[in-house]
Amino acid sequence: MAGVDLRSVQELCGHRSIVTTQRYAHLSPDHQKANVEKLARELKCIACAKRGHERRAMHISGNAGLCGECFAEMVRSIDTFEDTLAEGKKTLIRQDSRQLTGMKAV
Ligand SMILES: [Zn+2]
Repeated sequence: MAGVDLRSVQELCGHRSIVTTQRYAHLSPDHQKANVEKLARELKCIACAKRGHERRAMHISGNAGLCGECFAEMVRSIDTFEDTLAEGKKTLIRQDSRQLTGMKAV
């Protein structure tokens, strides 16, 4: 399978059942082989490619692949973003309460 597992093929083809993927893989081996080879080329991590190196993708989102490391990095950056957002909200609330206190004093 040219290093691409059937689960990835299933995900990319949008098959609900792995049986469908197996059926296609069984029925048209040449066609499937071409697809899988195309897939293997496409399944390079896009984030790594942008940095000029090459890693096999492990996570697939649409037609884009991310390697484990870049995927983890993306998850971390989302967490950081949410932390920043939460901290920003806290700051705003603190400012609001200060302003309210100030208004009461006037
Ligand atoms: Zn990567």
